[in-house]
Amino acid sequence: MFSAKLRQQKIEELNMYQFDLVVIGGGITGAGIALDAVSRGLSVALIEKNDFASGTSSRSTKLIHGGLRYLKQFEVKMVRDVGREREVVYENAVHVTEPQWMLLPFHKGGTFGPLTTSVGLRVYDYLAGVKKGERRKMLTADEALSKEPLLKSEGLQGGGYYVEYRTDDARLTLEILKKADELGALCLNYVKAEDFLYKNGKVSGVEAVETINGTKVAIEAKKVVNAAGPWVDDIRDIDSTAADKQIRLTKGVHIVVDRQTFPLRQPVYFDAPDGRMIFAIPRDDKAYIGTTDTFYDGDPAEAAAAEEDVTYLLDALRHMFPSTSLGHSDVESTWAGVRPLIYEEGKDPSEISRKDEVWESENGLISIAGGKLTGYRKMAEAITDRVIKSLEKDSHKKFGKSVTKKLPLSGGDFGGSKNFPRFVSSMALQSEQFGLAPEEGRMFAQFFGTNAGKVFEHYWKRSAEPHRDGLPDVLAAVVSYAMEDEMAVTPSDFFIRRTGDLYFHIADVMRYKEQVLDYMGKHLNYSEEQKVRYRKELLEEIDKATRFGRGMPQ
Ligand SMILES: Cc1cc2nc3c(=O)[nH]c(=O)nc-3n(C[C@H](O)[C@H](O)[C@H](O)COP(=O)(O)OP(=O)(O)OC[C@H]3O[C@@H](n4cnc5c(N)ncnc54)[C@H](O)[C@@H]3O)c2cc1C
Repeated sequence: MFSAKLRQQKIEELNMYQFDLVVIGGGITGAGIALDAVSRGLSVALIEKNDFASGTSSRSTKLIHGGLRYLKQFEVKMVRDVGREREVVYENAVHVTEPQWMLLPFHKGGTFGPLTTSVGLRVYDYLAGVKKGERRKMLTADEALSKEPLLKSEGLQGGGYYVEYRTDDARLTLEILKKADELGALCLNYVKAEDFLYKNGKVSGVEAVETINGTKVAIEAKKVVNAAGPWVDDIRDIDSTAADKQIRLTKGVHIVVDRQTFPLRQPVYFDAPDGRMIFAIPRDDKAYIGTTDTFYDGDPAEAAAAEEDVTYLLDALRHMFPSTSLGHSDVESTWAGVRPLIYEEGKDPSEISRKDEVWESENGLISIAGGKLTGYRKMAEAITDRVIKSLEKDSHKKFGKSVTKKLPLSGGDFGGSKNFPRFVSSMALQSEQFGLAPEEGRMFAQFFGTNAGKVFEHYWKRSAEPHRDGLPDVLAAVVSYAMEDEMAVTPSDFFIRRTGDLYFHIADVMRYKEQVLDYMGKHLNYSEEQKVRYRKELLEEIDKATRFGRGMPQ
């Protein structure tokens, strides 16, 4: 079970066995590798120094996409490989990915013209193997304006219309980890790799520390994979045989605004005045806009939106949607992520390739970085193939081929996209037996997929007990589920990676932060010191997200 209440037991287990594989890093790359490996029969442990997905994997543009713009850089193979994965990621996790028709407007003198858009999107359809109903359409200027009336009409020549998939990056990562856990992988957050164990000149495990209580663990493993994203070079530094630094970081910022002030109807991929491309994407009653792309040399954990990032995005927005007069005070929240890119001499941030890279040191440590959220499964398959090759060479054991192409993630067991609407309707009906309104049941089913039943049970248990903690029952049920089934340890884990509320419902965070802290503290036995620390941590996260917008909401 993936419960924060079982942490102590899991920590002891880390010390107990020799695993076939230890993965360092609980972002989407590490999560994908853990799932691929455990589903092929390897014994697997995964450690994450902070919360799962707290690195880049909760701070992306949250799109499962092939990266249309990379066609301009002739990254044909990457667009094909990643583009083809969109459908696979979608079908295995329909509850966390949603097809969205994207509008690519073209104006006189812009990056894309009618011909380049038409050809580019057709090539994209072909490379990405896009299914019939989702192939690109070309729109006239009037048609583009009727899809999105906020668009700049001056110089508008038309638009390309094509499908991408919107996701929640952190929840996608969690659903992968929950599936890996279900199949027997031991995945733990708040465990930091500090050193390697060596035997006969080869890496034979990891020395780590559980950062909440300071417990040291020595995890023995036949193979170790470093999937530490922006920190991949730091881990390679610990292993004395790794070569020079390979990673260059670039920062990407997003801003969130309310759709009452910016009534965006649909996703748009548009030119910024400097020729870069930017997304504006509606999500419920908010819209988010991003991203920037600038070199970053600071601590990846501290990456935050700077005033000039917010100004840049607002300028771009007003340029493409001139009827809006959005300013800093309309920005409700922001987030910033850093891309671990493979260093290429003399290139601008946006020109550096997004492809992944794998290194293996003389000691046998495998490191992987770069790539995209979208391509996580293929990357995981390639790494596990490599691990298996090494394991099979050293023993007589045989492992099978990757099965993840048709392996639904946790919450995805309703038989693919065609069954999802029926499943959601049936859960809405079922939820009434637990005392929920059908709309609440529907919302849970859409968010948690086939795990919604467990959230219903948390709700039922809670409503049967007397309580006076000031938390609405629906919210309390989601917090309970997050602690007991998704290993949420702190309120920041809950408000950022389990729900995304810090970005998309900041008012709720402000309203219920103390109640959630108390509730989690009671159930997870926080010490006074922990309570103070977690409160401070959440306030810092709120400050980071709101600093250059409308300021700290009350
Ligand atoms: C602004 C931005 C927008 C993006 N948009 C998209 C998009 O729309 N679609 C898409 O497909 N891709 C997108 N990407 C790329 C995608 O987000 C990344 O490729 C992906 O999230 C990288 O995941 P990762 O697991 O390699 O790294 P991370 O998510 O950073 O995970 C690495 C983990 O390792 C942990 N770690 C580090 N050191 C240690 C240690 N010593 N011990 C234990 N754990 C450790 C870290 O805490 C971290 O959680 C975007 C990236 C950025 C920055």
